[in-house]
Amino acid sequence: MDRRDFLKTSLAAGSALALGACADGSRSHDGTLATRVHPKSGDRVSLLGFGNIDELDQPSFNQLVDYALEHGVNYFDTRPGQSEEATAAALLRHPREQYFIATRFPRQDGNQSLKEGQEMLDRSLSLFRTDHIDYLVLEELDSPEAFQARFLDNGLLKWLLEQRESGRIRNLGFSFHGPKEAFDGLMALHERWDFVQIQLNYLDWKHASLVASQPGLRLADAEYLYEELVRRDIPVIAMEPLLGGRLAQLPQGPAMRLKSRAPERSTASWAYRFCGSFPRVLTIVSGMPYLEQLQDDIQSLSDFRPLSEKELAFLEETARQILLFPIIPCTDCQYCMPCPYGLDIPGIFAHHNRCINEDNIPQDAMSPEYRKARRNYLVSYEREIPGRRQAGYCIGCGECAIHCPQGINIPVQMRKIDNYTEKLRKNV
Ligand code: SF4
Ligand code: SF4
Repeated sequence: MDRRDFLKTSLAAGSALALGACADGSRSHDGTLATRVHPKSGDRVSLLGFGNIDELDQPSFNQLVDYALEHGVNYFDTRPGQSEEATAAALLRHPREQYFIATRFPRQDGNQSLKEGQEMLDRSLSLFRTDHIDYLVLEELDSPEAFQARFLDNGLLKWLLEQRESGRIRNLGFSFHGPKEAFDGLMALHERWDFVQIQLNYLDWKHASLVASQPGLRLADAEYLYEELVRRDIPVIAMEPLLGGRLAQLPQGPAMRLKSRAPERSTASWAYRFCGSFPRVLTIVSGMPYLEQLQDDIQSLSDFRPLSEKELAFLEETARQILLFPIIPCTDCQYCMPCPYGLDIPGIFAHHNRCINEDNIPQDAMSPEYRKARRNYLVSYEREIPGRRQAGYCIGCGECAIHCPQGINIPVQMRKIDNYTEKLRKNV
């Protein structure tokens, strides 16, 4: 059962959720969504931030935004493109003082010129019909070299700081997911950030390199980044609280472990409460394309109490168990797409991960479950990934891997999946 199905069932059953009726007839929670105050700007920001969502029709988007606002969410994270347009259209139906707008300067092929950067900010301001962006995120700033080329050499940072001075940008920060040395190098170049957005969840906390899975790639643990930011008095914005959905759809063992400790709580709720337990986390941004998810996430951070030391230790032990399962840490961000040879990279990884989660990875031909698991794996693979989009068509060009923020060695993983699938097909 995926997260959405679980939540639907829980809500329908009325289980242990403490719900009451809202003005719009939907359900709300007793208690309110937690907030945090930005120490410099004084912004009172909801601990749950509405994350970037692509490919949702406008009426559904409006419904989510309305529900979020009505239940205390006031931080809306977006990025130029379809997401920004849909978010702007939804938010413009509400008073400007009810929400904070966060948008991004995305990483692009080739560095932006000063003029292109200026036009990008102008476009965002005009789209939201506003004279200020509350949080501007320099996206994927993962090395001092990238910072130098993208923002220092072209004078863009200097201009952005002037915009902050004039109030057109209220808070300026960047998002980071890279090695420790790169982070230290970035901080040595510039420290006057109003926030930094980092990948924070209970796997990345102490095991970022293991989660990235690429041999030799050393990513900074979230614990290190968090403590460095606290030391510099810079608020933290948490992204990927569910690690691309992986912490909402756990393999059976870890899922049962969490369920037996708190049967009424979703597995995702543990992940949100983990992030919220760190006091310098200003907000936790996550894309929530379904109303059930939004409701669950709001509930997880309402009447909020941080996890106890015991609960944190319990989650760390759970993290160690999860890492025993060889799941590929694809977050479906699509940065690797399109593959010039037509492969559905995130789709192949999603299928593989789901088979692990559902115990449909047949290993032992002597096992009584082998035939059924083999069939499930092969049938679902053919159904979900059309022939020429499958792993076997990867030529190993490596075009995709350089774009993957998770550091996944995509060609190697494609080869492994294809070898495995071929063995199943031949019934070896
Ligand atoms: S390495 Fe494989 S998956 Fe990646 S771009 Fe090349 S053909 Fe596509
Ligand atoms: S870039 Fe990496 S994480 Fe993103 S969809 Fe591709 S493989 Fe998955």
